[in-house]
Amino acid sequence: MTWDNRSGGPPIARVRTLVRTFPTPEPEADGTLEWSATTAVVVLLEAGDHIGLGLTYSSPAAEAVIQHHLADIVRGSDALAVAADWEAMHRAGRNLGTRGLFAHALSAVDIARWDLAARVLGTNVAALAGGAIRGSIPFYGSGGFTTLDDTQLADQVDSWLRDGATRVKIKIGESWGTRIDRDLSRVHRLAALVGPGVAMMVDANGGYSPGQARRVGLALDDLGVDWFEEPVSSDAVSSLNLVRLSVRCDVTAGEYAADLYDIAALLPVVDCLQLDATRCGGYTGFLRGAALAASSGLQVSAHCAPAVHAPIATAVPNLRHVEYFVDHARLEPQLMDGVATAADGVLTPSAGNGHGLTLRRPAATP
Ligand SMILES: [Mg+2]
Repeated sequence: MTWDNRSGGPPIARVRTLVRTFPTPEPEADGTLEWSATTAVVVLLEAGDHIGLGLTYSSPAAEAVIQHHLADIVRGSDALAVAADWEAMHRAGRNLGTRGLFAHALSAVDIARWDLAARVLGTNVAALAGGAIRGSIPFYGSGGFTTLDDTQLADQVDSWLRDGATRVKIKIGESWGTRIDRDLSRVHRLAALVGPGVAMMVDANGGYSPGQARRVGLALDDLGVDWFEEPVSSDAVSSLNLVRLSVRCDVTAGEYAADLYDIAALLPVVDCLQLDATRCGGYTGFLRGAALAASSGLQVSAHCAPAVHAPIATAVPNLRHVEYFVDHARLEPQLMDGVATAADGVLTPSAGNGHGLTLRRPAATP
């Protein structure tokens, strides 16, 4: 049955969490971090006949944050009371700190809340956000780890081009900015792989000093790169601006933003704001962040988690694109059914209620 949201929805009867870790095919690295697996922390909220699903890519410790600090807030709550529970959860983080791990945990629960509310009302999450503006959204191929050899990079780029990607992004800033020659030669190689019709993007993950970033940025301009992500640490906002004013390519950041205060600090120093719904307060935080970016005349780009972002991104007017990050694009169909399909350069969400994603049965049991 469906519910009238003026009279409230069914109570949330059960809060379940689970952690799934997906090894990468081999160790991977960007400019400042190495990893060999990706961990998804999943939340399942049950109300009536409906189950809402949310997730964050985080530490397994995010599960404990949900169970110890957030589950009691949403258990027994009205399934349609999404905004009220967001406020209650955020208040519960006062002494812990509301950013970092806590924001990851809150984000997972909020995404599950949106999914559940939409399913209870018999509609999708875009409709709850005011309605889809478009049926699909542009994506860009993302990966290009510093650990890949030339053949592996060529294979990765080829897979994105087969999906119709018109933009691709690789990692630079290798070993904290100590391999600049290799960084630039890899961009040069990328240019040869994609040809003139595909835009090139790079992400230094904060690996350069401000001076290095300015000099690398000028070389990137010459190579035709139009997106220079986190040239320096995104915590160093004045340095971000320094780089931004020195180069032609867009300077971007925002993937670590946890709330509107973080976003407000970045808006004056970026050309496009990146936002991650699994970190910035769920769909609630993502939509609010996108609106705040619009107040500076900026577009937003969804960071990673393409399956999670695609359904809500269709309702965001100032959305530029969604990052089709290779690790997540690989694991999301293993974890969930209903994952958005990538073809012809766009991601098309499934037509199901909520965000259209459900936990796959093999993934449902440890
Ligand atoms: Mg990044």
